Amino acid sequence: MKVGTPAESRPAERRVACVPETVSSLVDAGLTVHVQEGAGRHAHAPDAAYRAAGATVTPEDPTAESDVVVSVQPLTIDQASTLKPGAITISFLQPANERELLEVYRDRRVTSFSFDLLPRVTRAQSADALSSQALVAGYRAVLVAAERLPRFLPMFTTAAGTVPPAKVLVLGAGVAGLQAIATARRLGAVVEAYDVRAAAGEEVRSLGAKFLALDLETQSGVYASVQSEEFLERQRELIGEHVAQSDVVITTAAIPGRKAPVLVTTDMLKAMAPGSVVVDLAAESGGNYAGSVAGEEIWVGEVLVHGALNLPSSMPVHASRLYSRNVLNLLKLMIVDGAVTPDLSDEVLDGCCVTHDGQIRKELP
Ligand code: NAD
Repeated sequence: MKVGTPAESRPAERRVACVPETVSSLVDAGLTVHVQEGAGRHAHAPDAAYRAAGATVTPEDPTAESDVVVSVQPLTIDQASTLKPGAITISFLQPANERELLEVYRDRRVTSFSFDLLPRVTRAQSADALSSQALVAGYRAVLVAAERLPRFLPMFTTAAGTVPPAKVLVLGAGVAGLQAIATARRLGAVVEAYDVRAAAGEEVRSLGAKFLALDLETQSGVYASVQSEEFLERQRELIGEHVAQSDVVITTAAIPGRKAPVLVTTDMLKAMAPGSVVVDLAAESGGNYAGSVAGEEIWVGEVLVHGALNLPSSMPVHASRLYSRNVLNLLKLMIVDGAVTPDLSDEVLDGCCVTHDGQIRKELP
């Protein structure tokens, strides 16, 4: 069976779904791998490395010839329209945003799997691309803030006087938030964090940051559920003074599959010191600051708001390596005797399979 890795077709995507190391593992598993010329160039994976790992490098997009197509972003409609009937695709894919693509997949009887829907059970952890890429995003968010901030993050004691450490506030302490906390701490900042889930408190403290205990009801469990507007209003009242005292705010709060909760207001930003920086990792899903624009930096008074857009793509070497391992581990759940034959009675595959056998299996809004 042929696994194809096209060069990413959607704008500004610098990752690649299959790095040479993964090619070797797929070849060892009995598959042949075709990679489009230049697919790994941003991830510093040259065509020669793919050939050395056992792949065939083709000048043309291998999508139409492949039994399995792996990509980071969903395929374009043009690519999908060339898929063999019954082909398998693996990528990020949010069903609600890709109705037309799903109709093409349905009509071509494509079996498509989405990392956005992968069940977060222990057995699927090694395939969890949302987590691997959130880790990259959390790390990068701090570097973006540090670069824009017109002051130091660490404390310095010098002959010319003492520089106090910067204060960083992280809102949302899931995978990205925890990585942001760890990175800001390593750079010497004093870090506070808040999450609506009580369980996040211990993880925040274990990284050397202060967990904000707000006078609010907390949630149990691993994932946050939707909060009422009254709750969010009260939350904003309590968060406001912490935002005002911070030099950097990194927001990562999200509810799976929903618009991000608004945690930061324009009045809060206006109370921050001039030159402060906000990095809104939720900008693509509406923003934890409602004025955030994904992919843009805006000034609100003298505060810079960076609306993050696909930060993992800005660190393509490691983001691709981690993603590629996730792809390999998902494929391993489907490979039987050298062939990719997904069994949808497996709860992991069932959970992330979007189309199969002429059906769209996930509800569209
Ligand atoms: P996410 O990206 O969906 O959300 C980010 C964070 O925002 C979450 O921690 C959430 O609680 C928080 N949040 C939501 N509304 C908020 C609000 N109003 N105020 C403050 N915070 C708010 O979450 P994620 O990073 O994908 O994962 C969340 C949890 O899942 C973490 O505990 C993580 O460790 C866990 N997880 C488990 C597995 C597994 O396989 N078992 C895999 C990945 C993640």
